[in-house]
Amino acid sequence: MNIRPSVIVAAALAAIVGMTTVAARQQPAPAPAPTPAAPPVPPLVREGVTEKVSAHVHVIPDNSVPMVPNVGIVVGSRATLVIDTGLGARNGAAVMREVAKVSRNAELYLVTTHVHPEHDLGAGAFPATTKMIRSKDQVDEIAATGLEMAKRFAGISPLHAELLQGAEFRKADIAFEQEHTLDLGGVTVRFLAMGFNHTRGDTATFVEPDKVLFSGDVAMKLLPAVGAGASLSQWITSQDRLTALAPARVVPSHGPMGDVSIMADTKRFVSTVQQRAAELKKAGRTIDETVTTLQAELAAAFGASPRMAGTIRAAYTQAPAVTATAASTKHVLFMCPHGAGKSVLASAYFERLAREKGLNVRVVARGTDPDPQVGPKVAEHLTKNGYRLPVEKPQRVTPDDLASADVVISLGCDVGGLPVRPGTLRQWDEVPGPGEDLAGADAAIQRRVAALVDELLRQAR
Ligand SMILES: [Zn+2]
Repeated sequence: MNIRPSVIVAAALAAIVGMTTVAARQQPAPAPAPTPAAPPVPPLVREGVTEKVSAHVHVIPDNSVPMVPNVGIVVGSRATLVIDTGLGARNGAAVMREVAKVSRNAELYLVTTHVHPEHDLGAGAFPATTKMIRSKDQVDEIAATGLEMAKRFAGISPLHAELLQGAEFRKADIAFEQEHTLDLGGVTVRFLAMGFNHTRGDTATFVEPDKVLFSGDVAMKLLPAVGAGASLSQWITSQDRLTALAPARVVPSHGPMGDVSIMADTKRFVSTVQQRAAELKKAGRTIDETVTTLQAELAAAFGASPRMAGTIRAAYTQAPAVTATAASTKHVLFMCPHGAGKSVLASAYFERLAREKGLNVRVVARGTDPDPQVGPKVAEHLTKNGYRLPVEKPQRVTPDDLASADVVISLGCDVGGLPVRPGTLRQWDEVPGPGEDLAGADAAIQRRVAALVDELLRQAR
């Protein structure tokens, strides 16, 4: 990583936190001011600088200005796709003027890398006939957080407030679950819901014939800004998923363009922080000590960015606590009729939560009448959320499994003929089947898993 990212982040942070020069202008002039810091660069999309980066792809580069995205314009013979809008309608209009210079298609599509204001809230300036493409995760995120972030951005300066005046999220015309493919006329474009990394609705766009990837904030030369509640394992999974597309060119949502090395560097950074934070936690260091130590240790390799602390804190929190000993390892067996859905979800959630809370467990998932494979919806759901699949192929529960289990959780099995040891059986029979109601199954299982981990933790103490 070069030195640039830290400069950009520092500027962005100054823009968010400080804004001293702009604020000062509205006050009656005080006594001779100390030399002011450089004024923040206005968050405006530049016109007349659009670059053609491949046969069908143009980019309006952000020039590394905070709160300006790299905007993508993908032109097919039938339709044109825009990726990200700029902050507010004034920037959206500038994007539209650039689009008009490179495309005459009347049919227009819009997708955003995520729902933060500078990526999404310029959509008001796009023609009414524009088709908005969103992942279901984005739709949910907008429903949950609304214009919260826009209000915060509007408070940064009068210009930000002016740009965001009246801005609204555009409704999805096309909403997709995991992946969506669009033909712009000779140009196939794939949209990928990336799971929760920077935001819940992170969306990547891959222009297939040109091998150009728009990676959003998920892979940039800047260090990651890990969303509150996002898992670092998910970040790593995402780097692998983006690398597997084998892009020739990577256009991140901020900062310089690059190639697959952007994902490699991001993965190396996140893995290093993950590993070192776990080691320091194991050695009994506090979270603040770990932040200080690792910031100093990793600055040379990855740049001294204020974003680093966020990743270190996430890594420390997510690293296993070290309290229990091997002797206190609890064997927990989850079983459901087909060993392909409920027990898979439950064991994945239980395993991670137990690890995060420092509970020593051995977790097994089984079925009484196993299916040939794990339910695809379940597998996809877990992978997307950064979980490793706990079973490759559903396995039939054996008498040995039951004999060695301290806790047996049955999710809807007929346990009548099974040699379950007395006192070990719990029945979670009201959990709905993930095939019919994934969200319902998920919520019911997570709630029970959290209670079980807490109960076993209290016993272990
Ligand atoms: Zn963002």
